[in-house]
This record gives sequence, C-alpha cells and structure tokens, in this order.
Amino acid sequence: MNEEFLFELLSTGSVSGNEAELEKKIYDHMQGRADTVSVDELGNVTAAVNPSAPFKVLLAGHADEIGLMVSAVGSDGCLMVTHIGGIYPTTYPGHKVRVYTKNGVVYGAVANSREISKNKELEASDLRIDIGAKDREDALRYVELGDTVTFDTDVRRLLNDRISGRALDDRVGAYIVMEALSKAKEKGATVGCYAVSTTGEETTGNGAYFSASRIRPNVCIAVDVTYTSDNCGIGIAETGDVSVGKGPVICNNPSIHKKLNALLRSCAAKLNMDIQTEAASGRTGTDGDTVHKTGIGVPFALVSIPLRYMHNPAEVASLKDIQDCIDLLSEFLISCTQDMDLKPF
Ligand SMILES: [Zn+2]
Repeated sequence: MNEEFLFELLSTGSVSGNEAELEKKIYDHMQGRADTVSVDELGNVTAAVNPSAPFKVLLAGHADEIGLMVSAVGSDGCLMVTHIGGIYPTTYPGHKVRVYTKNGVVYGAVANSREISKNKELEASDLRIDIGAKDREDALRYVELGDTVTFDTDVRRLLNDRISGRALDDRVGAYIVMEALSKAKEKGATVGCYAVSTTGEETTGNGAYFSASRIRPNVCIAVDVTYTSDNCGIGIAETGDVSVGKGPVICNNPSIHKKLNALLRSCAAKLNMDIQTEAASGRTGTDGDTVHKTGIGVPFALVSIPLRYMHNPAEVASLKDIQDCIDLLSEFLISCTQDMDLKPF
C-alpha cells in the first residue's frame, strides 16, 4: 500500500466546492499509472485504462469532504459560518480549525464556553471562529467570504492496522479507485476502466453527474464509506452487521444491480477475502445514486469501507479494509468482459 500518498491526501483540505488542491495531487500521482489522466472544469480527475474499449466500467470515489464556509465576519473580527454537508455542529466548539484562503491556510479556534457546550441544539450559524483578528477589517485582510474551513487535525496510526483522521469519508475512496485502476492496468484489464475522484458528493453530486455524463459508462461501482454497527449502539436490523476490519461492504438495495453484486462476491471468493453486507431501503446516499440516473441509465453497485464516527473530527478505519477494497475492485475490473449481460432474465 502507498501509505505516504494516502496520508498526503488525508492531510489536504478538500471541502465540497474547493477540492482543487487535492485533485491536483491525484492528477500528478496518476501520471504514468493509467493510459490517460484528465481533469474537467469542476476538477474531477479521471484516470483511464483502455480508453478506446467500447465497454466502460466507472469506479467513482469522492474527493470532497464536509466542513464549513465563511458567511460573514463580526465587528469583533470573529468569522461566522454556514455548514457544507452533514456536519455535527456540536463537534466544533473548542477545536482548532483551518481556513483555506487564496493566500494559504489561516488558523483559528472555535469559540467555546460552558454555555455553548451545554447547547445540544447548536447550529453552524452559532459557531464563531477566532483567527486572532483585531476587528472585522483586520480579518478581511486575510479571509474572504466563501472561504472554506475544516478541523485542524492530523491523520494518525492507531493500534493494529487502524488509522484515524478527519474526512476519511471519502478521501480513502478516491485513493482506492485510483489504486485499483493502476493495479487493473498491471494485471491486464481488457474493458475500458475509468477511475474518477469526484467533486461535490457531500453537497450537490455535480462531480458524479459531470463524470458519468461524459464517460457514459456501461456500469459503475461507487466507492464510499459506511456506518458500522460495532460501536456506539447502531442497531444491525436496519442496515446490517458491519465492523471495522472485517472487509469491504457490499450493499443490497432496490437500485443496486444484483449481477454486479454477484460478480463482486465471486471476485472476493476468488481472492479468499471476507466481505460484509449492508442494506439500504432506498437511495444509497452516494455518487452511485447520481451516476445511476445519467444518460440512458447506468447499472451500479456500491463497495464501502467500514468507518466509525463518520463526519466527526476523528473517524476510524482499517488499512486492511482499504487494501482489500483495492484488491477486490482491481479483480472486478479484470473480470469484466466486453459482452457482459446484465439483464436479469
Ligand atoms: Zn462519502
């Protein structure tokens, strides 16, 4: 595993709509690891193997993360913010944050007090970021309205093969799709293989829409993270029994294609790999939902990395699960054939 590249991605800010720095790192890294590497107007990076093959398989992992956006500046110089994606506002007070400005990162502290810490109804609009500015004018010398904000956290190795960091959702997915594509190239995939690190999944889904509309894949595998039931009392009846460290997760829901799931299962069996199953009763809440409805319709499946504490400052995942996802998806790519029949009967 290229842990250095993974950690580099996880250390980079990529709030939805502001993914360019991260996408550029992926673009540079993929040079020579695919037949073609391109970027579109939104910043979606597409790496392709066999781009002239008629049957196309798209792997989509989103590069964006949740966070905050500066909405106003108070007369005291503190930044006011709105939420970008599904944040937990109560996780911010007392934390260090990074504000991504056009001149680089400006650091800040999120105001906290006994009063604030007791407010369980806290909203993003209640947060105040102290960047050390003397007043509004001073703050606006460094920060612009619309700048994005993340927790100022590091990625760390925990015991065993676990890692912790901000927004593993879904930068691990973007990493996995690129690594799986490179591996499929080495192993001699014959169909058209496309890996995209998409923008905007946490907010608008625009990256998946642009990418799929242009590539026009025959099938898609969305690669994202999923909740686990191995802690915090999440019940297994609704979404399944899923643990960190027990392998990639395959999803059953009304729109996910059963033949793609069957192929994923047979690839896992071939690799002697344990996989897990989750259930979604409607939409998956991933890029898969978006790709599914592009063009003439795209059959899709979802491969997820088990993740604890999703959308918190310290999410936890397993490096083995991440490597297993890479191996499973590269095996899937080399198992796809030009004449795959996906009709159910
Ligand atoms: Zn995600």
